[in-house]
Order: sequence, then C-alpha cells, then structure tokens
Amino acid sequence: MLTDSIATLAGVGEKRALALNSLGIATINDLLFYFPFRYTDLKVKPLEEVADQEQVTLKGTVVTPAVLTRFGPHKSRLNFKLQVEHAVVAVTFFNQPWLKEKFEMGVEAAIFGKWDGMRHSLTGMKLLATQNQEEPGLAAVYPVNKSIRQQTLIALIKQAYEADGDQIVDVIPEAIRTHYRLLSDQQLVAWMHFPETDAQAKAARRTAIFREFFLFQVQLQSLKTQTDAPQNGLMIPYDNQALRQLIATLPFDLTNAQKRVVNEICADMRSPEHMNRLLQGDVGSGKTIVAAIVMYAAITARYQAALMVPTEVLAEQHFAKLSQLFADFPVRVALLTGSTTGKKRRDILADLASGEIDLIIGTHALIQDAVNYNSLGLVIIDEQHRFGVNQRRILQEKGLKPDLLSMTATPIPRTLAITTYGEMDVSTIDELPAGRQPITTTWIRKNQMDLALQRINEQLAQGSQVFAITPLIAESEKIDLQNAEQLYQDLQQALGDKANVALLHGQMKPDEKDTIMRAFSDNIYQVLVSTTVVEVGVDVPNATVMLIMDADRFGLSQLHQLRGRVGRGKKAAYCILVANPKNDTGIERMQIMTETNDGFVLAQKDLELRGSGEIFGDRQSGMPNFKIGDPVGDFTILEVAQQEAKQIFTTDADLSAPEHAGLAHYLSQNRERQGSLD
Ligand code: ADP
Ligand code: MG
Repeated sequence: MLTDSIATLAGVGEKRALALNSLGIATINDLLFYFPFRYTDLKVKPLEEVADQEQVTLKGTVVTPAVLTRFGPHKSRLNFKLQVEHAVVAVTFFNQPWLKEKFEMGVEAAIFGKWDGMRHSLTGMKLLATQNQEEPGLAAVYPVNKSIRQQTLIALIKQAYEADGDQIVDVIPEAIRTHYRLLSDQQLVAWMHFPETDAQAKAARRTAIFREFFLFQVQLQSLKTQTDAPQNGLMIPYDNQALRQLIATLPFDLTNAQKRVVNEICADMRSPEHMNRLLQGDVGSGKTIVAAIVMYAAITARYQAALMVPTEVLAEQHFAKLSQLFADFPVRVALLTGSTTGKKRRDILADLASGEIDLIIGTHALIQDAVNYNSLGLVIIDEQHRFGVNQRRILQEKGLKPDLLSMTATPIPRTLAITTYGEMDVSTIDELPAGRQPITTTWIRKNQMDLALQRINEQLAQGSQVFAITPLIAESEKIDLQNAEQLYQDLQQALGDKANVALLHGQMKPDEKDTIMRAFSDNIYQVLVSTTVVEVGVDVPNATVMLIMDADRFGLSQLHQLRGRVGRGKKAAYCILVANPKNDTGIERMQIMTETNDGFVLAQKDLELRGSGEIFGDRQSGMPNFKIGDPVGDFTILEVAQQEAKQIFTTDADLSAPEHAGLAHYLSQNRERQGSLD
C-alpha cells in the first residue's frame, strides 16, 4: 500500500529506513514522489562528438578478452578493448569484477563512463546494455545525502513502483489536468523517474511543478477557509452616508486607486467573514487616508478601531494628523505608547474598556499589553510588520476577532505576495496622487561628493531641507556612529553658516530623537544626518534632497523607501546615491535606482538580483521551501495554480464534490502528518 512504511520494502532495515527518513521519506508514497533534480543523458553518442573528460555512453563490440586484476579484497580492475565505429577504445572498470563474464569476445555493449581523449580510453561506470537489450535514454539523479547512495535509492524506487505504482490516485482534478495538459499522477511518477525521452522528462517536470504549487495553494486556501468562516468574523454595518461626508471634507479628491481599495476593504468589513487583508502601495500613494476612512467606517458602526505603527514618532505624527482630520466628527481619538504613563495611561485604558475612546493610535503594545477593548472591530497595522499567526492568536485569546488590515509600503513582488500572502487578500494602490513632483535620482562615486554638495547648496538656497543617511550596520553600532559623525562634521564644514545641521542616531534616547525630529520638521535644522531609517519615516514636505551614503549597502526596496521621504511637497526633489559598488550586481542595483521610480519594479528586480534561492532557501524568511518549482522562474505556473486552487474553494469549500475526492484525501493525510501549515 502507498501509505505503508518504507520499512516494508525488501532491503530496507532499520538503518536504511532512517537514512530515507532523513530525506523526508517515510512511506512508499513519499518515495514515489521523491523526484530527481536532473537527468544524465545516457544516449549513445558518436565518438567524434565526445569531449575530453565527458561522461558519455559509447557503444561497440568487445574485441579482446576481458582481463581481471585483483589488488585487495574489494579492489579490482577489469580491462578490455572495445571497437567503437572505426576506432579501438581501451575500457577499464574498477571494482565491478562480476562484469567480467558479460564482456565476452564479440559481445555488443553500451557502456556509460568517462572519456579520456588523450588516452583514447573510457573509465567505465555502468554497463547499460549488452547485445540487443534496449538502452535507457536518461538516468535520473536524485538529491541524496551521505547516508544513502543514488543506486540504492533508484533500486528502491523501482521496487516500490513495480509493487504499488498502479495504486497512485490523482490529486489534481481531471478538468484542470485536461485543461493544462498535465499528466496523471501515475504517468507523472513513471516519467519523472524513468523517462525514455527528453520530452517525457520535460512533460513530467512541468506537471510536477504545477502539482507542487497547486497543492501548496490548496493548503493555504483551506487554511483561509477555516479562519474566514463566518463564525470567526465580524459584520460591520457601517454608515455609507457618514463616509461620504468625511471624504467630502478632504482637501483633495481620492485617486481612483484609493477609491477602489476603500471599496474592497469596506466590502470585507460589511461581510460576516473575517477580514485579513494586505494594503500595499508605494510610498506617498496615500495609504494613511485610506486607513482613516475605513477606521471611520468601523466607528460609525459603533466599533472601536486601532492603528498600530512601529515607532512612537510615527504614532505621534499619525495621532496629530488624525485628530485634525476628525476634529469636526464625533470621533474620540487617543494615543497610547510606551511613553504614556501614570494617570494618563490609566485613564486611556479605562476609556478603552468602557468604549469612551473610538480610535486608538499607538505602538505594538496596543494589542499585547493588558489593554482591554469595549468593542474592537478593526485593527490596522502600518509598515514593516504584518499580522503573523502570533498576533492573531493574541487577539483571539483576548476574545477578539477584529477585522485585520496590514499596510505596507514595501511593495511585495507578485511572486512573493502569492506565495507568502496566499492566505491574505491583497489590495494595491497602484497610482500616485496627481501633481506629484518626480524625484530625480542620480548615482555618484565617493570621490564626486562635490556634485552632491552643489545640489544641496542649490536646494538650501531655495529654502528647502536635506536628509543625509548613512547605513545602519547591525554588527557594529560604533562604526555606524563614526560614519554618521564624520558626515555630520563634513557637512557642517562644507555648508558653513548656510545651514544648521543636526545628527540623529540609533543610540539616542527616544525623546532626544523626538526633539531633533521635531526641530527638523519645524525647519530649525535644514540638514538632518541620520543613521536610522525608521525615524525618518515621518513627513517633512519641505525636504527635497535625500542623500544616501554607501547606498550599495541598502536593499533596493529600502532605498526606494528612503527616497520616498522627499518629493512630498510641491517642489522638485532629488535623491543622490553615493556608492562605490564592488561588483556588477552592485552597479546594476545603483543603475536601476536611477532608471525607475516604481517600487514594484524595484522589488521584483531586487528579488531577481538577489536570487530567489537566497530568499526562499532561507528558513528564517518564512518563505515556503519548494522542491521542484522556482517561484520566480516558474511564476506563470504559480499564478495559474493559485487561480485554480482559489476557484475550487469558491465553488466547493469543503471539497465534498466527487471530482475533489483525491484532493480532500491528500489534505486530510497532510494535516494528519504536519499538524498544520505554518
Ligand atoms: P503613504 O502611502 O506613504 O502612507 P501618505 O498617506 O502619508 O502616504 O500620503 C502622502 C501625502 O499625500 C500626504 O500628505 C497626504 O495628505 C497626501 N495625499 C493622500 N492622498 C492624496 C490624494 N488623493 N491627492 C492628493 N494628496 C493626497
Ligand atoms: Mg504611511
């Protein structure tokens, strides 16, 4: 049976079973779906096409008696000559004495081995066929470790396939298989392991990739179906009229993209299902106002709303903005951060519990602390983090099931969004408000700082302000500080009395940082040198220059984030990257920054340049570890697999239809084995 342990196979004892387990193989089924990562071409090649040291199959006739020499209990050498086409080739086999009797004079043999062009000899590795036996075309090569050999694995797979191969049932519904011309699972297994032609191997691989992505997406969808179940959600019957009033007071028209995402989010809130949505939009695309509108929606339905941000400075800025926005509306807004202490804190906690407060803004502590809500309906988390399973659990343990909206300005390439946020719905603001000034990005080398100073001087003369960033290197705060201090001094010296320069670094106390940030915001300082990125996440519309030192140390998305801190006002803005990249990739990264202002393009490029292996291979990343498919290279297949998986769950969420029986079976077995996907 397919579900039987591999220990039931002949030749598998305790030790070998453990070795197989170490490859993730526990059952016969696992073994059959343990696929090769490449094939060796075993087809016979004409001698003149064979390169020196190439591994190749040669076919010929044995023309001298085979001579066996033993030189140790397990060591031997077998020599004979093979007539290949018009040439005579010396063949040697090491440590396979039993082959002697196969190579009788006049026998025709196909031998796989390593060709030595100088010596005109072949070191035999494998006898593929003699006389009229059919030679295999391709040999599968499997990922193995030290505890098990290729040949052993191949023999076991053969054994398992011969015994139970006919029991393999399809998990991909037939309609989908037919539509995408995919193989049945039985055919897939056969051609994956034992292809006779390249075409068979290719077809098998294509099916295997689809199957892997599809099953992963099916698991995500099934997880989503569970958490989204109506009994786990909240229906928020907001007041549409009131929303219109709020929108009418805004000093600008919403962009079409903003309107669209507001509608998407509101539809989720109104529905009884649990909302778990990601709102992504480039820096400056206007996510905050979208957040404000949907929070107001929750409030009109007499629910409380919470906005969580990563830092106190940002919390304060949001608090100030939203208090102003809601000044003429019946919304009671409060701020709760680590700095809120004493009586003030007690009052806020009491007012949250009694329902006095409608809208609370703060840091992560908002959900983790001993904070009790009266009727929390919507939680929005801004930047950097998204709701992990952990936070969702905390909320649930508090007996809360608010709708969740995560906002990010780090655009996630579609590839990553599909794979990692498969359980979330994604709304995208793909349009900037009209009239935005373009940001001109230039890249200069370290010895061209005078160009940067020219630009800075020009902008200061026009009354604008300047950000100057040095990179944050986790390993060495000391060096960070030195770099920042050096730049601070250099700029002070270069600018003289043309500007007040301030220094902000990670080792300062929060209130120190705050004072400086505020002073910069009030244009008391015209130049802000900073090591930190987050603290710069605030709005200073008068800033028009973003100078980034050692720019090659930042990720593209991070650079883009920083760049988005300027160009927020009416004036043209400049981003100056200073870097001496060490390699071609570094050069390419700097160049692409100067060529595009599109965060999505950059994020995709970042992924390509860093390689998906680096991101997906890293367990810490939380990315799924695909064995066959490459989420970047095989993206089109991934996309289609997701659509199909989604489609299935919209029509047959509990997979009770007969055509989904195979899938339902797969899921139940999988759940049993892994507990749950996380
Ligand atoms: P982000 O998406 O980076 O959080 P913000 O919400 O901070 O962007 O918006 C950036 C700036 O654009 C703010 O000053 C905001 O008031 C303004 N803004 C937002 N939406 C619009 C719009 N539709 N038209 C004009 N300005 C807008
Ligand atoms: Mg924002």
